Amino acid sequence: MPHPDRNYPSASMRIPTLADLLDVQELDSQIDRLLERRQSLPELERFKNEHESGQRLEEELEEARAELKQIELDLDKAEGELEMLEAKLEEHETRLFAGGMSARETEHMRLEVQSLRGQKDAREERVLAMLEEIDPVRQRVTDLESELATVNERKAELERAIKEEWRKIDAEIARKEERKTEAASPVSEDLMDLYDKLRRIKEGVAIASYDHGVCGGCHMALSPAEEEEAFSDEIPRCAHCRRILVA
Ligand SMILES: [Zn+2]
Repeated sequence: MPHPDRNYPSASMRIPTLADLLDVQELDSQIDRLLERRQSLPELERFKNEHESGQRLEEELEEARAELKQIELDLDKAEGELEMLEAKLEEHETRLFAGGMSARETEHMRLEVQSLRGQKDAREERVLAMLEEIDPVRQRVTDLESELATVNERKAELERAIKEEWRKIDAEIARKEERKTEAASPVSEDLMDLYDKLRRIKEGVAIASYDHGVCGGCHMALSPAEEEEAFSDEIPRCAHCRRILVA
């Protein structure tokens, strides 16, 4: 369907078109505010903070788990060594008890047993120290796991809230877009192009009301000569800011 205003048949056709464009602009501004709200929900900021805490906790947890694993490995090794020492000690002691060795051999064995006992005591102390060391690290891993789980729960909750808000906002935007399409239908394509271009470079205000000789866009007055020139044009534009004017 051709636009009735395409050829501007009369002055009376021009005015409703520009007024329609003012409606379009109002709807565009409302859509912009909704888009702005969509991206500045307080939940988004909170989600970002939780996400960052989660990442920090994951790093700490990874470190704590690595530390725990290392201690467990060291402990296993120390316990294995202790078992070997104990077995060797028992074997030597059994031979001593069994007798049948020369005095020199017996003395040698006795000294060997003494040395093994010393080694065993030292190894036992090390194992005990490791057991004491491992508990706080285990606790730390457990604590970090539970903290991380809490953060992830909060994140999931926020995600649900954000999706819900976005769903509402998007529905609102869709309604505005629909009304905008309706309001824009009588506006010619050329005028829409000009409007879109001006809106991009004029902070969202492409069309302004002209009231008592003042442009509602830049708030500057037009001289009578400027006014006459502006309004003699098919599309009146402000002499200062070049916005479209609606009388
Ligand atoms: Zn102006």
